[in-house]
Amino acid sequence: MTEALIKVENVHKRFGTHHVLCNVSTEFMAGQVTVIVGASGSGKSTLLRTLNRLERHDEGRITVDGIEVNDDHKSLDALRQEVGMVFQQFNLFAHLTVLDNITLAPRRARKMSRKDAEARAMELLRRVGLEDHAHKHPFALSGGQQQRVAIARALAMQPRVMLFDEPTSALDPEMVKEVLDVMRQLASSGMTMIVVTHEMGFAREVADRVMFFDQGQIAFDAPPAQFFSNGHTNPRIKAFLNRVV
Ligand code: ADP
Ligand code: MG
Repeated sequence: MTEALIKVENVHKRFGTHHVLCNVSTEFMAGQVTVIVGASGSGKSTLLRTLNRLERHDEGRITVDGIEVNDDHKSLDALRQEVGMVFQQFNLFAHLTVLDNITLAPRRARKMSRKDAEARAMELLRRVGLEDHAHKHPFALSGGQQQRVAIARALAMQPRVMLFDEPTSALDPEMVKEVLDVMRQLASSGMTMIVVTHEMGFAREVADRVMFFDQGQIAFDAPPAQFFSNGHTNPRIKAFLNRVV
């Protein structure tokens, strides 16, 4: 049995009186691809955001590769280098070129030289099919291209895990595939990935595991073949599957 890369133990999160994560416990193994689904407002983004301390949990314990997720500055720096995140809205720096978007963090946080950081960035741009766009600004790119840059930027820190929060939800339909293809390729390279998405084809074909969130709790967690089968008794999972499949 290999050791879990991420451990989540009895985690609670409240916004005021709203109990958004209710005693969540789970583990994510190295190399595993997990897809998280569930109704809007069920806590999916909040869980992802607690894993890299964009949100703090109120109770319980989270560790990423042995680093405890807390407010200690040293662990926070270490954590942010291990966990890459890709958002629905890309969040690229608008005033920087593609190349500078990708090299900024490695140069600042990892103290890489410009030359080394740029060589690595060009390699990543080749991986996501954008080597000809290195000197453009984000506004000159399509949504799908911007999201691929965002993935390259996250990978530039050489993270051990990549979190994706609805990475294709803001894209025009014709651009969804190019982003999913990059994610697919990343999954087959062995990257540990946790992906919140409505793309059920991706879940079926790429995920090792599908997790269904319901009102701040993990209501179901199993390989995709089981998730997409007919035997569910939970009415909310049935309703979800009726809607999406
Ligand atoms: P999901 O990603 O599954 O749609 P979220 O994790 O974004 O759900 O949100 C879960 C619940 O927490 C929602 O009801 C949302 O309104 C609430 N919530 C999320 N972030 C905040 C916040 N910063 N302040 C107050 N409430 C929040
Ligand atoms: Mg969300």
